[in-house]
Amino acid sequence: MRVTRLLLVVGIVVCAPQFAAAQDAAANNAMRAAVNRAAGTITEAELRQAIGIISDDSMMGRDTPSMGLTMTSEYLARRFEAAGLSGRPGGGFQQEYPITVITPGPIAEQVLVLEGAEGPIEFASWDQFVALPTTGARSGSGELLAITNLDEMQGARGRIAIIRTEMGTMPDVVGGIGAAIDRHKPAGVIIAMDLPPQFFAMARQFFGAGSVSLGSQATAGPPVVVVPLGNLPASLGETLRSGANNVDGWSANVATSGTAETAEAMNTVAFIEGVDPALKNEYVLFVAHMDGQGIGPAPAGDSIYNSADDNASGTAMLVELAEAFAALPNGPRRSVGFIAVSGEEKNLLGSRWYVDNPLVPLENTVALINMDMIGRNWTDSVVGIGMEHSTLGETLLQTVEYHPELNMGVMRDRWPELNLYARSDSYNFAKAGVPVLYFMSRGHQDYHQPSDVAERLDYDKIARMGQLIFHFAFGVTVMDERPEWYPEAYSEIVGN
Ligand SMILES: [Zn+2]
Repeated sequence: MRVTRLLLVVGIVVCAPQFAAAQDAAANNAMRAAVNRAAGTITEAELRQAIGIISDDSMMGRDTPSMGLTMTSEYLARRFEAAGLSGRPGGGFQQEYPITVITPGPIAEQVLVLEGAEGPIEFASWDQFVALPTTGARSGSGELLAITNLDEMQGARGRIAIIRTEMGTMPDVVGGIGAAIDRHKPAGVIIAMDLPPQFFAMARQFFGAGSVSLGSQATAGPPVVVVPLGNLPASLGETLRSGANNVDGWSANVATSGTAETAEAMNTVAFIEGVDPALKNEYVLFVAHMDGQGIGPAPAGDSIYNSADDNASGTAMLVELAEAFAALPNGPRRSVGFIAVSGEEKNLLGSRWYVDNPLVPLENTVALINMDMIGRNWTDSVVGIGMEHSTLGETLLQTVEYHPELNMGVMRDRWPELNLYARSDSYNFAKAGVPVLYFMSRGHQDYHQPSDVAERLDYDKIARMGQLIFHFAFGVTVMDERPEWYPEAYSEIVGN
């Protein structure tokens, strides 16, 4: 694989052959000084201020959709405009998209009954299972069919499909279940979560509060419920774990309810045009989700989920990076774009909408840099998820090497079993063929809790990381060659 040395690249940018070596060196030094000055505009104090505003109680946790989300988007738009950026081609700083908000019906209308040789077992709604909110009342009953992946749902027409999910398969199951149901028409679906109990608590908070989906058309479909695998009869649980399909003798009765409303949500977008006549048609995009967990249960008397690390940290960094790129006296060669998406916490909706309705051509989007949860933990390192998939990883490692003064190292994904790659917005871009790199700085006990507050972030770390990301991204904007996928990773993630 081709390895481009950044120093060499910076040389190529400013040196024409007729220059004498000394002039080259002087021009190079001037350029490097300008880039360092631009990086220096990313400061601890500015990040602290922006993260404080975005995660303030007055933003009410930035749920999708909510007044707090709209206020956050307007704040970002003002900051982008003040920094001299332009909005979407021919328009403003927002990309609106239609959503359907479904509110669950009363608990008594959510039903799960399993019937085996020893008679019916009725499960308690909310305590023992949670229903995915549906539009109107839905019910279904039939024999159980155990499936291990969504393709196997084809045998479930008129039956109740029961699918075991664990950490690694959960994003694909949750993301793909709607399409599988549309195709295969089961009478109902039971998602059996083979995960520690806190994940059921999270699923309950996520689904029990209602759901938000893309589009303005509420879809019809069978009832779907989520139940911890441990709540099922032991023999059924064992069959599911073994991967067998045969659960003869078991049938189920499932019912769910809810009401649907259509609404609008938005992404916030801003662009800086590149200066190279040819390369300005190529784009390096940054993405971070501005939405948060909204308002929810108050385990310690506080119902506002400030969502500071997740993800006021990445959102504020978009603004800081935009200001740094705007501070370059000669601009970047390639164009640069900033997308603060919403609906991430609702299954990556805003980024999916953007990828389906891109504002600049996806085939000319040469790199996508995602930042989600970059504010805490190790003071001297950050994880670069997806580094091993493309030449972006090499460019990042070179950037670290050239900037020891930042004292910020990068690591590959340390938790492949958590499938973090598929759990943030970069995944939608990767599946569309854009090389991605996703910066994150590890979870913590405040993740998705009201205690994810601005006071707990490490601003010195975030500022140094921001400067590193700026140098890295600047490198990507000036290289002659665009980043390349490694072939195995490409065929695994994008297909052929
Ligand atoms: Zn997040």
